[in-house]
Amino acid sequence: MTRPALLECALGAMNLGVIVLDHARKVVLWNRWMAQHSGQHASEVLGRDFLDVFDGMRGRRIDGAVHHALYDNFPAILSQTLHKAPFPLYVDAEARQRGERLQQAVAVTPLDMPGERRHCLIQVSDVSYAVHRERLLREQALDLRLQSYSDGLTGIANRRHFDAAMDNEIRRTKRSGSPLSLLMIDIDFFKPYNDYFGHQQGDETLARVAHALAGMLHRPLDLIARYGGEEFAVILPDIGEDQARQLAEAMRARVEQLAIPHAPSSDFAQVTVSIGMATRTARNSAETAVLIGTADRALYAAKRAGRNRLVIERIE
Ligand code: GH3
Ligand code: MG
Ligand code: MG
Repeated sequence: MTRPALLECALGAMNLGVIVLDHARKVVLWNRWMAQHSGQHASEVLGRDFLDVFDGMRGRRIDGAVHHALYDNFPAILSQTLHKAPFPLYVDAEARQRGERLQQAVAVTPLDMPGERRHCLIQVSDVSYAVHRERLLREQALDLRLQSYSDGLTGIANRRHFDAAMDNEIRRTKRSGSPLSLLMIDIDFFKPYNDYFGHQQGDETLARVAHALAGMLHRPLDLIARYGGEEFAVILPDIGEDQARQLAEAMRARVEQLAIPHAPSSDFAQVTVSIGMATRTARNSAETAVLIGTADRALYAAKRAGRNRLVIERIE
């Protein structure tokens, strides 16, 4: 094989689009990959102005890059993140119909040859697969992050999420001076419920109660988390103690309204919750541990006082 024939053959076999423009921006080389993916055979484009072949490129980044390569001797690489698919190139006819371009990485390089005015080489590679894989990995990472912050049984925030949110809210409230209420909610007589109905139904009821409680929170920073076993914690930023008390009371009533039949051995005919509440204010400037400890004490007071009730304990 002669050397030019060998080069021609190699160029045709390349898994990469190769275009060469002469000094007047006319297409002088167009390899088979370009023909396959653009739908235009070399005979249709050779000798034509680059911007005539790719009308949509006028004034675009590629146009500028070709100009710089030909007349200023500057090479350019078009970052795939900024310029996803500059050329109308498609994997096949169906993708062309759908208008689904190949994701491209493009390099524009000046070509200096002895005795010739400067030419320019444009290389186009298909990075669709790499882009696809990158998106998949990003989605998986996001999924894992979401999983690591939510409780598998109930779908609400988990303890880790609660701890992080609590840290944030305490910090925010220290800056703003706005109040922050915390509710600790515990299902009444849940052990007898499990013993009577079985653990699986216990799980279902736990999830139902969690959803009903979560459905009562509407502001973006309100957060309900599964704090442990059958215990929930609710963070209510930026509302006064009185509003928080009303919401807590409504949450208690909501669970009662679900009218989930309780075990015969429990004191109640229906599943209910007890709620302890404490509020951090600019005046008491309680730290996280104090706020949680106080809400917890209020919860136990609610249990001792007969359950299915809300008890508020003030922080001095
Ligand atoms: P009270 O809170 O009213 O004092 O009584 P209780 O029976 O609910 O309290 P206790 O803390 O003694 O028991 C909590 C029970 O909750 C223990 C366990 O059977 C049940 N429980 C905790 N986590 C889960 C869970 O993930 N699934 C199910 N099905 N049950 C759970
Ligand atoms: Mg309980
Ligand atoms: Mg408990």
